[in-house]
Amino acid sequence: AVDAITLGESLGLVMGEPATPLRAGSSVRFSFAGAESNVAIGLARLGHAVGFVSRVGDDFVGRMVVETLRGEGVDVSGVVVDEAAPTALMVRQHRTADALTVLYYRDGAAGSRLQPGDVPDLSGARLLHVTGITPALSASAMRTVETAVRAARAAGLVVSLDVNHRALLWSAQEAGAALAPLLDAVDLVFGGDDELLALARRDIGGDVGDVHAAVDDLLRQRPSVVVRKRGADGASVHGAFGVIERPALAVTAVDPVGAGDAFVAGFLSGLLDGVDPAACLDRAVECGAFAVSVHGDWEGAARRSELGLLARAERVHR
Ligand code: ATP
Repeated sequence: AVDAITLGESLGLVMGEPATPLRAGSSVRFSFAGAESNVAIGLARLGHAVGFVSRVGDDFVGRMVVETLRGEGVDVSGVVVDEAAPTALMVRQHRTADALTVLYYRDGAAGSRLQPGDVPDLSGARLLHVTGITPALSASAMRTVETAVRAARAAGLVVSLDVNHRALLWSAQEAGAALAPLLDAVDLVFGGDDELLALARRDIGGDVGDVHAAVDDLLRQRPSVVVRKRGADGASVHGAFGVIERPALAVTAVDPVGAGDAFVAGFLSGLLDGVDPAACLDRAVECGAFAVSVHGDWEGAARRSELGLLARAERVHR
């Protein structure tokens, strides 16, 4: 039995080199991406028993995803191999050192064919984590997330939602409208400022006062904890206990992608361990810092034995 389950789409990832536009003959790195599988890897590295529910195509990209997840210790028995559609792909170009551009090839891919029947028996698990990406993929993927969230709530699992708005898939308003009806089954919400505003059905782009009002709106519904991710500015956790803030750790950021997912894995790990919200946030902030200071979406995810490494003053650990 697993402690935590995540559900979503993984995509093959073709990644150009840092600060180098892609052209014919460019060197690329081949890996995979996907917020929910990133969280699964993060939790597995932190020592938790975690299962991943997904669909991949019957192709070498899908096999690479499944074999890598299995190698990371993630239970992949919930990954359906769909013979009727390819595994999704994304191409990431570091157009300049500061501007990352992404192309998705995911319309009609296996992940968009997730269906409610793919949701396994959740009893025995303690936590379900979903993101706002999956519902944007297709109507059946949306229904799959709803089914999983309702089943988890009925079975007494903690339900975690990371808004994870992807502007290439839908507008923030559409995302907010689609995700808000899930809130009555969600215990824990993660988001950046605009994502929290959208989920609370407020205008995005508001100031800090508007964001705090949005957090309060969310806490008046079912969620008991809202976590505000603020990139290099750090993060805060909001609930009946009040507000706890943490600055980001000072690290050399080489790849911003995946920080949020590693952060979420760190927070959920703390929750599964039963530590208090401040300690959950400390672990999340450290895991986010690990992720941004390594290339790749999940490759930098921290192992439990490595926690504390970045807080130490020395740079060479021998
Ligand atoms: P993504 O969707 O790219 O995975 P996100 O937007 O969901 O990321 P961020 O707010 O960028 O999430 O990052 C999550 C957390 O990771 C931050 O709250 C912070 O604790 C940590 N973090 C992010 N960027 C940095 C950085 N440059 N240096 C140190 N820590 C960082």
